[in-house]
Amino acid sequence: MSYKRKQSFIVRNKGEKDLVLSLLKSEGEDLKRLYEDADKLRQRYMGDEVYIRGIIEFSNICANDCLYCGIRASNHNVKRYTMTPEEIINTAKTIESKHSATTVVLQSGETPSLTDHEIGKLIERIKRETSLAVTLSVGNRSEKIYRFWRDCGMDRYLLRFETSDEKLFKRLHPDCSFGERIDCLYALKEIGVQTGSGFMIGLPSETLETLAENILLCRDLELDMIGIGPFIPHPDTPLGDQKNAYDSNKEMFFKALSVLRIYNPDAHIPATTAFDAVFPENGRAMALKRGANIYMPNYTPLEYRRDYMLYPNKPYVDESTESCVARVISLIESLGRKIGKGPGHSIKGRD
Ligand code: SF4
Repeated sequence: MSYKRKQSFIVRNKGEKDLVLSLLKSEGEDLKRLYEDADKLRQRYMGDEVYIRGIIEFSNICANDCLYCGIRASNHNVKRYTMTPEEIINTAKTIESKHSATTVVLQSGETPSLTDHEIGKLIERIKRETSLAVTLSVGNRSEKIYRFWRDCGMDRYLLRFETSDEKLFKRLHPDCSFGERIDCLYALKEIGVQTGSGFMIGLPSETLETLAENILLCRDLELDMIGIGPFIPHPDTPLGDQKNAYDSNKEMFFKALSVLRIYNPDAHIPATTAFDAVFPENGRAMALKRGANIYMPNYTPLEYRRDYMLYPNKPYVDESTESCVARVISLIESLGRKIGKGPGHSIKGRD
């Protein structure tokens, strides 16, 4: 069933967008209560465990030209790379043995720099040779390919819709429509793969209504994981001279996160790296205190990390994985939280 037909099943309570908007406008004592409520809900539904999902950005080759993305096909300033399957497996093994991660997230641009078959074989090997859960994030694919990867052992898939505003989506993504993106998400859910999506906060021309709709769309999609992060303009893209819509109101990034938790109490929500890019002192720590329960350190080998710049000034591109893991563990413990053991699968559908 296509997204257009499914849309008719989404019945919105008339006042709910107004309620989301009023939460996003919280100030003073109301804002304090919003953050506290989000943290309490996180604790009640997701517990105090913070699961570590180690990201491997295995290729920065992409055929697409998303207007905001630093590794878009038209950016010729990027040195392109693809890790070999052996390098990826070895990195996954290191993540498992030394870095407290229980999931590996394999991420790349949208061209099959490794073929769909090679990715399937890679998933099979990681599942056979490690105890890691496998999350894949390689863009829009057909349901047939998603089924193939699921049968190879893929546990989860991440595919952000980025904005619920269809016209804005089309402007930003010349290679794909909003409906196609949402259809991919439904296909993943229908075949039983834990499905993650999310959006950017503060895209140029985005309104507060769009942000409220983004949050409600996450709720309507009943996602297992939701990743959000501020839009950060990359100088080598057509949006390089634009500003984040909340440039003078950065608190909105945390408000969005907390409201997201309130509307999605049982979803895994990561404290994404982009929060640290905007708040270098404590962005991800604040996110963990305001609704997030997942940490996704970047374990891409150092020799490749600088070449996967979706946005500029990405933090920790020069940090060794050893130092990264020590920092992550100490941060989580300093917040009175525990490192999650086991795969940290979706809790949706459990009693
Ligand atoms: S956002 Fe993803 S699909 Fe779009 S250009 Fe960047 S890597 Fe490619």
